Order: sequence, then C-alpha cells, then structure tokens
Amino acid sequence: MDEEKQARVAESESMFRDVNERIQMSHEQWGGAEPQEFLCECEELGCAEHTELTLEEYEAIRADPTKFAILPGHQISSVERVVEEHDRFWVVEKIGSAGEVAEARDPRTLE
Ligand SMILES: [Zn+2]
Repeated sequence: MDEEKQARVAESESMFRDVNERIQMSHEQWGGAEPQEFLCECEELGCAEHTELTLEEYEAIRADPTKFAILPGHQISSVERVVEEHDRFWVVEKIGSAGEVAEARDPRTLE
C-alpha cells in the first residue's frame, strides 16, 4: 500500500473515531458498566458493523491516539498490527505514516 493510500485510509478511520467520541459522550451522560455499541474502526470503507466495549475498555484504547477498536479479523496488516485480542473486539495499533496521521487527527490533541 502506498503512502497516499495509507494516509487516506487513516483519515477514514479517524472519521469513525470522531463519531465514536460523540457516542461515548452520550453514553457517559447515563453511565453504566455494561458494554455499549461503538462503530467498528477498521479500514474497510462502508464497514458499518458494531463492536461492543465498556466505557472503561474504550477509554483505555483512546488513551493512545494510534490505537483503534475493531471487530476481530478486521485488521489490515500493512498499516496496523493487532496488539490485543478480546472476545468482543480487537485492538490495533497504527504503524508508519498511518500512525502519524491518526495521531495528528486525534480530536483530543487538537483541543
Ligand atoms: Zn470493520
């Protein structure tokens, strides 16, 4: 995968993450330790599937701007590597330029 495509792919993932940030904020208003639905943050354009994470799990992933929560098996090995495998979701870490884009686009570091 070339650099330009990597960057585009990371852009789309960052967009999903923006949506998930809003989902997370609305969940926080009523709290709860039960797993909530989040959008899968994989590379697949148009992937509208849901992962289920507790807020605690989501927060732990979001503490690192290069990490994303995806459905098991949705990783693309050329731009990311799986760092955690759980029953409901996997955690991937961006590598190379995709990681840099993800970091630059992190809504939490833009504030
Ligand atoms: Zn997916």
